[in-house]
Amino acid sequence: MGVLTRQICRTIGHRPDRRAKWYDKINWRTHCARCRTPLIRMLREWQEFDTRRHLNPRRRPHPDYDRSN
Ligand SMILES: [Zn+2]
Repeated sequence: MGVLTRQICRTIGHRPDRRAKWYDKINWRTHCARCRTPLIRMLREWQEFDTRRHLNPRRRPHPDYDRSN
């Protein structure tokens, strides 16, 4: 991802890829279609996924985890 891409997202916000949306048993998750930043849906808003803030052992990994690795 480029610096410009990051700058666009910082200015106008991330663009959640709704087709890639998946449920981790607690929240909906996806990534930004522009910069690929992981996103999590909290309080009806997409936010950047923060490992320290959002880490929870009850979350299940991405359903494609095995295939994408
Ligand atoms: Zn973005």
